[in-house]
Amino acid sequence: MTIASSSVAFEGAMPMAPTALERFGKVERPDLAYTREVAEATAPIFEKVKHIIPAIEWPALAPTIHAINILKRQRNAVILAHNYMTPDIFHGVADIVGDSLQLAIEATRTDAEVIVQCGVHFMAETSKILSPDKTVLIPDMKAGCSLAESITGADVRALRERNPGVPIITYVNTSADVKAECDICCTSSNALQVVESFGVNRVFLIPDKYLAANVGNKTDVEVLIWDGACEVHERFTAKELQDYRKIDPGIKIIAHPECPPEVVAEADFAGSTAHMIDWVKTKRPEKVMMITECSMADNVASETPGVDFIRPCNLCPHMKRITLGKILDSLVDMTDEVVVDPIIAEKAKVAVERMINLKS
Ligand code: SF4
Repeated sequence: MTIASSSVAFEGAMPMAPTALERFGKVERPDLAYTREVAEATAPIFEKVKHIIPAIEWPALAPTIHAINILKRQRNAVILAHNYMTPDIFHGVADIVGDSLQLAIEATRTDAEVIVQCGVHFMAETSKILSPDKTVLIPDMKAGCSLAESITGADVRALRERNPGVPIITYVNTSADVKAECDICCTSSNALQVVESFGVNRVFLIPDKYLAANVGNKTDVEVLIWDGACEVHERFTAKELQDYRKIDPGIKIIAHPECPPEVVAEADFAGSTAHMIDWVKTKRPEKVMMITECSMADNVASETPGVDFIRPCNLCPHMKRITLGKILDSLVDMTDEVVVDPIIAEKAKVAVERMINLKS
């Protein structure tokens, strides 16, 4: 590439874009002592989490929580936390909580200049796609996802070539590159509606083979799959659920549709993370088992006292890369910035907006 100035031409030289830290400026790294001021300022937060975070651990967490809450105002930042974040993040520093799409949509409605995405990389990309003018940071760039990593944009192009005319729907758990190649996005809440919205006999629903199979069981549309799976939800088995029921016949079991169909068939209810939370808050069962990532049960438990949660704990190692310490580093150093190629972002946005605009 040749870049010409008024007097000279430089081979291959591109001006470096300023980093987020250069754009926003440096701030002092806060002191993290557990002082009386910190204890008083964080007391209302501790009140919310005291059933799940032991009092002995609070002095180690509170200074970072307090520092993040001060710094995010200084940086004009909003913290988005997925339902699978640990309770110290979910209840301690988050401004908006929810599933990935709820987070990205809510973030477009804030005046914040900076989004700190406490979740995995595809979620940060989705936020950037919907808020291209905001600076999006992720506290750990390595926070990936087995579903998002199971497929690329080139795979989708090849799928389309081999299956001309078959609509391709992508679950929101994919990279911007994949979304850009698909006709429309879906979430686990609206996947059935999106599948039926085309009015055709066959569609692809990628990349989660279990979500696709679970949706396929509810419709006459043939739902074609891609061989991807969530490494957390695919570990649950129907036998495990049957064994729990034998021990405790009164227990209510609710499962995420990323679980295999035989697991979903054993559950009393299956739905997205948002629907699972609503179900527990509305039905208030005496005892419930949430068949999903285990931090979610912790977060719902703190909001539904009186409900006994049994936690068959499968942790997502990618989500667990996000910690309070890394969130603080993100706000101090303005890292890691998530950038999406504007051409890809524009195409991906079309797929996301088609879903948002789908009439219910
Ligand atoms: S829980 Fe599953 S779908 Fe969610 S980020 Fe982890 S691997 Fe991906």
